Amino acid sequence: MAKTILHLGSNIGLRNFNLRRAQRLLEKRLGKATKVSSCYETAAWGVEDQRDFLNMAFCFKTKLSPDQVLDVAQRVESKMGRLRLQKWGERIIDVDIIFYGDEVVNTDRLQLPHPWMQDRRFVLVPVAEIAAKWRHPVLGAKVKKLLRNCTDTGHVQRVSGKLR
Ligand code: ADP
Ligand code: MG
Repeated sequence: MAKTILHLGSNIGLRNFNLRRAQRLLEKRLGKATKVSSCYETAAWGVEDQRDFLNMAFCFKTKLSPDQVLDVAQRVESKMGRLRLQKWGERIIDVDIIFYGDEVVNTDRLQLPHPWMQDRRFVLVPVAEIAAKWRHPVLGAKVKKLLRNCTDTGHVQRVSGKLR
């Protein structure tokens, strides 16, 4: 069983509902989450002229291979009506694999660990909440250190309750 972390984002419609629905669909196919982060409202990255995102991360153990986890993630994105119109554009749901054990993968369709995680506060903050001590297998630093060293200044605010 490999310990794995997924990071989810949504900035269309009922964002909170979308995250919960995606989590439920993913858990059905991958296994129950062992740790779930809070939700964070975060400034859009890359293409900034769009609504803020809600992001979260969760951890689970799976028997599936990294490629199979990506298949599941992409099937859930499609099921929820994800369209790929613009790189880094708005999306009802985005499912990214951050870590899969300490595997390093570099294929066309899958890179692990996620290649930009260390550059994005909106990824590091929720991941640090559930896996601060996870060591990045290439960079050699723990997630909490990656977060301390990250120069991204995008705002990331923990949300509680009913924000949609
Ligand atoms: P982004 O998440 O960068 O905004 P997309 O969700 O549209 O963009 O993903 C683009 C491609 O990234 C996908 O087609 C997928 O094959 C690839 N990809 C590579 N590594 C990963 C990963 N670790 N997790 C999710 N997708 C990945
Ligand atoms: Mg993605």
